[in-house]
Amino acid sequence: MIQRLLRLLDASPVNFLAVATLEKAFQQAGFTRLDPREPLGAMEPGRSFYVTKNDSSLYAFRIGQQPLSEVGFHLLCAHCDSPTFRIKPRAEMRCEGGLVKLNTEVYGGPILSTWFDRPLSLAGRVMLRSDDVMQPETRLLHIRRPLMQIPNLAIHFNRQVNDGVKLSRQKDMLPLLVIINERFEQDGVLLRLISEELKVDVSDVLDFDLYLYDATPSCTFGLHDEFISSGRLDDLSMVFAGMEAMLRAGGKEPSRRTQVLAIFDNEETGSQTKQGAGSPFLASMLQRIVAQQGNGVAEDFARAIEHSFMVSADNAHAWHPNYPEKFDPTNHPQLGGGPVIKYNAAQKYASDASSGAVFAELCRKAGVPCQRFVNHSDIAGGSTLGNILSASLPLRGVDMGAPLLAMHSARETAAVADYEYSVKAFEEFFRS
Ligand code: ZN
Repeated sequence: MIQRLLRLLDASPVNFLAVATLEKAFQQAGFTRLDPREPLGAMEPGRSFYVTKNDSSLYAFRIGQQPLSEVGFHLLCAHCDSPTFRIKPRAEMRCEGGLVKLNTEVYGGPILSTWFDRPLSLAGRVMLRSDDVMQPETRLLHIRRPLMQIPNLAIHFNRQVNDGVKLSRQKDMLPLLVIINERFEQDGVLLRLISEELKVDVSDVLDFDLYLYDATPSCTFGLHDEFISSGRLDDLSMVFAGMEAMLRAGGKEPSRRTQVLAIFDNEETGSQTKQGAGSPFLASMLQRIVAQQGNGVAEDFARAIEHSFMVSADNAHAWHPNYPEKFDPTNHPQLGGGPVIKYNAAQKYASDASSGAVFAELCRKAGVPCQRFVNHSDIAGGSTLGNILSASLPLRGVDMGAPLLAMHSARETAAVADYEYSVKAFEEFFRS
């Protein structure tokens, strides 16, 4: 199972490619793609389908045996975006000696220093001219070879480098792409690269959403291969655990409740986009599904929401053996110790005693250990999807995630066991 996770991670260097990876897996499992612009059709038990929004968020559904107004949805959500660097328009910056670097803009909150001195490449989507000006053609781009690097400044120019360095996002973080000299005397290299990769004319490339990614494949490590090293474990490890669980929870007999997997974009920048958790898109889809089942639409939908439960799955901070002072004295989850329920008195997390109790019991039923996380009280900590979604859709729900070290590093560290535990816990949730 872990090799499959590594393959999925490597196939998903950015949000658009992650959605394409999910789409392929769901199609192979017999889920049909629905166009949200068309009527959804009858919602009979066992029907499984998915929709996408902006090519960067995906919502998969499997209709349960009982009416939604009586049992509600079992909804698992996670996010497919991760901190990275976006390529700006007109990105090429030609420097002395013909060196060309690319102008970039930071996406989300990466640990900047982890992006130095490692082979990087390019992935995302490119818009091409089509016959319909309102609907340009979308093509995904995933360059699979090392293409760029952001070189550090040598220690001889900054002897204090190991005492901490302030980094400028505009000056320090620009990757080298090419040397233009007598042998290779041309500008416009980036557009030409894109057009060659996609085998299209340069003049047909209208725009792009392209990002850097770590070109070194993900791997396991440790004496017994108990750890995972990869970029984007936050939150693709939970995305793929959710997908695995939903595929496993299929079976011949439809389950009692309707299962939903919602993979949002833009969590790392606050979720307030049409494809993020702050969007009304999911609520509208759920409403339309309920409407297909009943008559009194508003009444049925409100009842379905009251019966529903949400698991918001986004990685949690594992206890770091080099920095124990940063963690809560009595609640610091361990790598390999199982899924983590996250609590926050200021409600940055959706969990409370009612929803935490449910998730802990799901873990127990699945034979999986369960841990709890609370911030050290002098440290602000992060936030996630659960409270954003439950502010617009009043769902009972829990914020949880597999424990993770070095969150938002170009390469994060997780434990193989926690991934396997998460899949089991999610499968139990979907079947319950
Ligand atoms: Zn996250």
